Amino acid sequence: MPIINRIAEFHDDMTAWRRDLHRHPETAFEERRTADLVAEKLAEWGIEVHRGLAETGVVGTLHGRNAKGASNRSGKGSGGRAIGLRADMDALHIHELNDFDHRSTDDGKMHACGHDGHTAMLLGAARYLAETRNFEGTVHFIFQPAEENEGGGRVMVEQGLFEKFPVESVYGLHNMPGLATGRAGLRAGSAMASFDIFEITVTGDGTHAAMPHLGNDPIVVAAQIVGALQTIASRRSDPLEPVVVSITQFHAGDTWNVIPEQVVLRGTARCFKPEVRDRIEAEIGKISEGLCAAHGATLEYRYERRYPALVNSERETELAARVAAEVLGADHVEVGAPPLMGSEDFAYLLEQRPGCYIWLGNGAHGGPGGCTVHNPRYDFNDEISVLGASYWARLVETTLPRGG
Ligand SMILES: [Zn+2]
Ligand SMILES: [Zn+2]
Repeated sequence: MPIINRIAEFHDDMTAWRRDLHRHPETAFEERRTADLVAEKLAEWGIEVHRGLAETGVVGTLHGRNAKGASNRSGKGSGGRAIGLRADMDALHIHELNDFDHRSTDDGKMHACGHDGHTAMLLGAARYLAETRNFEGTVHFIFQPAEENEGGGRVMVEQGLFEKFPVESVYGLHNMPGLATGRAGLRAGSAMASFDIFEITVTGDGTHAAMPHLGNDPIVVAAQIVGALQTIASRRSDPLEPVVVSITQFHAGDTWNVIPEQVVLRGTARCFKPEVRDRIEAEIGKISEGLCAAHGATLEYRYERRYPALVNSERETELAARVAAEVLGADHVEVGAPPLMGSEDFAYLLEQRPGCYIWLGNGAHGGPGGCTVHNPRYDFNDEISVLGASYWARLVETTLPRGG
């Protein structure tokens, strides 16, 4: 079965919601207008609305039909089984360079990652499922704030997402520019890297630039640290194990003839395995400490863990692949797609429950929808919303079949 015809009838509505969200982007934990829109729509379709998790999070709860007419056990709805579907709602701090009608009206903020589209697609699926209820059990529609940088997914989990809304599995979806429309990719196991940040402060002894021997130059020490940190990936890691250590900021000095007192380096580290993550954290400290000691400088080192690696479970990935193949055609779904070094806070939900995160083609590079995410000219491709919503709906109907 390809797309669901009834959902195709919602295409114009999904496009209108999506463009409305695009016009009014809201960043981490400030998605108030967005959350109001989501809550209002869900309530309109008779879906229970729960608000307040992670400040602006919204969870919609929908019970399916119960073919056997059994009682509504423990408040979990007919059948007792439940799954979660998650969409992110937040925008980015980017100045939009598009000039179409639905461009951002809030300068400096922009939906440049397609979370407007994710929200609209999950709403489309919710509307269809509320209308048809062709499943047995419960589905929780999880509308999550602050996916970018701030870990809204972690906050929802910490505030009891799965205690309040128990599910046996949880699913996520992201649009993927560069992948043609009508195509999808997914993989079992590690699919996206962990994301950490670190800060290294090297303190020397400031002096006149013409008399370096009278001070202790932290720039020369920090420059050696930048170079030496590259050996973590190139010399200390298994060549078959992906590791990225990138210095992204080097702050030092203000003028021509002064050797400054201090240098601050900042950067990010990415990998897939917890033990590799531990090692990277330790190695950065060891190398920086050793070089500072060799030059008589002092070190302050801070390493902060942000998102864990995203790991899809085998069984749920198989199921998601089957449903995607049903909607898109088997030859349009790449099972075992290569992992990405980018990261995603849906990983926190997958640490708690089995599930799968899938990439849905937003359009090939060079064509509509092909502009990369986080680019000021990006736009979600509304042509894929029927596909995404159909995937969501069939995933529920397949996972929680009537009489199953
Ligand atoms: Zn993003
Ligand atoms: Zn995103």
